Amino acid sequence: MGTKLSNPCVRLIYVSRAKGPQTTTVTTSILQQAQVHNKVQGITGVLCQGQGFFIQVLEGERSPVNTLYRRICGDMRHKDMELLRYEDISERKFSQWSMALVKLSADDPMVKAQHPEFDPYSATGDQVMHLLANLIETSQPITALPT
Ligand code: FAD
Repeated sequence: MGTKLSNPCVRLIYVSRAKGPQTTTVTTSILQQAQVHNKVQGITGVLCQGQGFFIQVLEGERSPVNTLYRRICGDMRHKDMELLRYEDISERKFSQWSMALVKLSADDPMVKAQHPEFDPYSATGDQVMHLLANLIETSQPITALPT
């Protein structure tokens, strides 16, 4: 069940390619930044990483989401950012996480069975949302990593 919102809110989904290896150090740093800033800005969402990709969903009031997106666009840790979806929403889908992390792995049995050959750059926004919902359902989303 989503959470009802009172102010105009949006959901933004993008995909990007990691510039270097997707190490725990990089992931920890991103998650820590997200957890500090997103809470203050009322932003929630999911970051999916693996196979050299980042896929992120940001939900919240339009202005903070747009500001964060611009900031993330300038981050040197990734490249080839492509906006997959930007929509008005009346409910959040990921209201419980300031930023949850799920891993995308070609060896994941669910991915093998339901999303073989998944390529986020040619996927639709619906397909990406479907993959994320499946990943959240079948794996334990991570919300904090050791420093
Ligand atoms: P600095 O550059 O050290 O901070 C400069 C000043 O700006 C400080 O006063 C700081 O408090 C303030 N500030 C920094 N970021 C924000 C912010 N988002 N809102 C308000 N004030 C801010 N960062 C996130 O915050 N949320 C995310 O969901 C997120 N997802 C990311 C996903 C990917 C794939 C990548 C590569 C990066 C992501 N980042 C995210 C990191 C983002 O690109 C910036 O690196 C980060 O927001 C900067 O944080 P900082 O405190 O180190 O900023």
